[in-house]
Amino acid sequence: MDHFRTIIEPFKIKTVEPITVTSEEERETHLKEAFYNPFKLRSEHVLIDFLTDSGTSAMSSRQWAGMIDGDEAYAGSKSWLKMEEEVKDLTGYEHILPTHQGRAGERILYGYLGGKGKVFISNTHFDTTRANIEFSGAEAIDIPIEESLYPLLYHPFKGDMDLVKLEQLISERGSENIGAVILTVTNNSGGGQPVSMNNARRVGEICKEHNVLYILDCCRIAENAYFIQHREAGYENVPYRKIAQEMFSFADGCVMSAKKDALVNMGGFLALRNQELSDACTNLLIITEGFVTYGGLSGRDMEAIAIGLREVFDPDYLKYRIRSTEYLGEKLFKMGVPLIWPIGGHAVYLDAKSFYPHIPVEQYPGQALVCELYLKGGIRSVEIGSVMFGKYDENRKLIPAPNELVRLAIPRRVYTQSHIEYVIEVFEKLLAKKESVRGYRITEEPRFLRHFTAKFEMV
Ligand SMILES: *Cc1c(COP(=O)(O)O)cnc(C)c1O
Repeated sequence: MDHFRTIIEPFKIKTVEPITVTSEEERETHLKEAFYNPFKLRSEHVLIDFLTDSGTSAMSSRQWAGMIDGDEAYAGSKSWLKMEEEVKDLTGYEHILPTHQGRAGERILYGYLGGKGKVFISNTHFDTTRANIEFSGAEAIDIPIEESLYPLLYHPFKGDMDLVKLEQLISERGSENIGAVILTVTNNSGGGQPVSMNNARRVGEICKEHNVLYILDCCRIAENAYFIQHREAGYENVPYRKIAQEMFSFADGCVMSAKKDALVNMGGFLALRNQELSDACTNLLIITEGFVTYGGLSGRDMEAIAIGLREVFDPDYLKYRIRSTEYLGEKLFKMGVPLIWPIGGHAVYLDAKSFYPHIPVEQYPGQALVCELYLKGGIRSVEIGSVMFGKYDENRKLIPAPNELVRLAIPRRVYTQSHIEYVIEVFEKLLAKKESVRGYRITEEPRFLRHFTAKFEMV
């Protein structure tokens, strides 16, 4: 198989879900009715949905069979035992707590470890991670490596943490004030960029030396393992699952959103080495999520997670997964679409500021690109720029985000090569009409997380 140019989807299709083809005129109406905010679109009006890779995976026939087999007992469900065993074997951690999704695990763990005066350090905190930490009164500090700040610079592991800054921060703040060091693999907010094994190991050594808790935010650990096998010396022949196990071995625990690499639509877990910490978290779990043998999950969800966590390390699957994301990114790059390089695991991040240099940041070039993608192609994407992260100064002048990005997140096992080819063709059209596209202004917005519900109009 290695000698073919075409990477085929390593599955065939048993159930199909029709998607609606709309005309540009219809999409104009839909977008207007959604106040030019794709979060407000009905999904049935979307042709290709690249809003997120979270909870949008297609489950396998085995997972669906497992759903029927799910044991819905309140206590001691066999589906739970299966999931617990799978997570224990994968992570090597003794204490497993099921949660309804990633952020529930974050709320429990970081709510317990956090509080005023505490500091959390990460390559980059994902937004729900940061929110849970800050909500507890603690501080969240990001220290990605310097290279990650340059969108076009090639670095094989742009998701790495800056180790010099880590040591500095620990000694400045005092190890007793560090809630935890959190390594996000792959680094979602930093463009889905991988973290090297060497970096994960060194972070572990530094944490051990200073007696600081070390947690992996491991949503995309399988995708990260692919990059390690293909880019890091010494791992060429190590199976993906072994690579993941080695990475877990350096840390004290992990938080996982199963909506990513466990290939399910809902679920998550917290896994810990330490008994005392696990007991404290278990108390919170029972109060807010559910009993210890289901957390926030149905038996069938746990069954599907156990199966998905195995399937995700299949070499044919991972090759298709990473290469198809890369394929889209490389094609767009060659066509002259500015984007973050190299291409990460789960998404392609476009640089809207360079794509529409004539649109000032106050008129949200990212929002303009998101709207154009929908209008011209029925493609839904998400702005990650000043709509999402912009703030206002005291005169209500926009303080823009550092970058105006648009993310095309690829759901797992959902779209085929021809869908991707279609997306590439839509970009040909966008490139041809670049200059005529106008910016947007916000007409209505809430105080927090405005990107979800803000309303816009064209300038
Ligand atoms: C999705 C995600 C989370 C939160 O998980 P949810 O299941 O959405 O609550 C945390 N960290 C990272 C890196 C993520 O990608």
